[in-house]
Amino acid sequence: MADVDLTGVEKRYGDTRALGPVDLHVEDGEFFTLVGPSGCGKTTTLRLVAGFEDPTVGEVSIGGRSMVGVPPEKRDVGVVPQQYALFPHMSVRENVGYALNFRPPPGGDADARVDELLDLVGLSGLGDRDPDDLSGGQRQRVALARALAPSPELLLLDEPMSALDARLRERLRREVRRIQRELGVTTIYVTHDQEEALAVSDRLAVMNDGRIEQVGTPREVYDAPATRFTAAFVGENNLFDGEVLELVDASSVRTATDVQGDGGDRPSLARVALDRLDATVTVATDAAVGERVAFSVRPESFTLDSEAGPAPTNALAGRVRETEFLGTATRLTLDCGEATLVVRVAADATPDGEVTVTFPPEAARPL
Ligand code: ATP
Repeated sequence: MADVDLTGVEKRYGDTRALGPVDLHVEDGEFFTLVGPSGCGKTTTLRLVAGFEDPTVGEVSIGGRSMVGVPPEKRDVGVVPQQYALFPHMSVRENVGYALNFRPPPGGDADARVDELLDLVGLSGLGDRDPDDLSGGQRQRVALARALAPSPELLLLDEPMSALDARLRERLRREVRRIQRELGVTTIYVTHDQEEALAVSDRLAVMNDGRIEQVGTPREVYDAPATRFTAAFVGENNLFDGEVLELVDASSVRTATDVQGDGGDRPSLARVALDRLDATVTVATDAAVGERVAFSVRPESFTLDSEAGPAPTNALAGRVRETEFLGTATRLTLDCGEATLVVRVAADATPDGEVTVTFPPEAARPL
């Protein structure tokens, strides 16, 4: 078992708090991603798990075992650093097999183990090359194979694709995911790229300013961002603030749920006057009349009025400032009162001038 726990972990450098306090649980066999902007504490978290740093406060444990006083080489952890950091004077084979000099594989056949790993990362036949004679993507595969050689129970990857171009990054991340699934090795992956985090993870932690904002599956984090930061950082979003004017009898509002004929639990709905927009909308909320509320609505949750059915519930008027054709959709930037809205509509839509966009009440996610 190689689940990972951070309990009340803080890391300070002098007066600077780089991280924490943080509590985190990574399941055995999970592909877990730490995502957040530069300086939010992702690398620090990884270094604490690897043992390159000690927490100022709190405890890291791996497989239920406290790592206090356990040096990196005793942690059974494979690390793929940001820059591949291959040994330049060694061949690819020697790089991959390096750790096996200290920890021979079961059965003792290091050569066979290196062959197996080169095959796993798709580099069979390149074993005798020098790292200098490889492409960036190939070097990163060598770094991955080298980290996996001693069969670690935990794999840590720190922005492993950051030096690669976008297309190669996408291909390689799929490959890393395939290999991780094949081996079942618990993996903690660091990236600042939220799209990458959504694409590869079983679960992810969104980090900001040394803290964890939210932990969840990609769908949970995308569909129900818990904080303003997460709503704005993961995917695009429109953030609204306003004040509850009145509570609404839910049965008077036609929602997508009704259309699908699935009654279910109905959230309480309220009429909200929006700040910076001369508009009121109906959204699900637990707030009472007179209370302030905040919520987010995804760009793809909007519909151009001309495409909507009769009597749209939440209509916002705006003027098209910018139109971007994205291939699968058209992205509009709208000036609405003092606010800016971003909406995604059908790819073939080419609206101009004044438009009205609508969104269903259930698309509003409370913050
Ligand atoms: P990036 O994506 O840029 O690598 P990150 O999310 O990995 O950023 P960290 O490298 O963990 O962030 O840094 C978190 C904070 O701790 C930053 O404000 C950083 O300046 C600070 N920090 C990290 N290492 C040290 C150190 N050795 N001494 C002082 N401050 C540090």
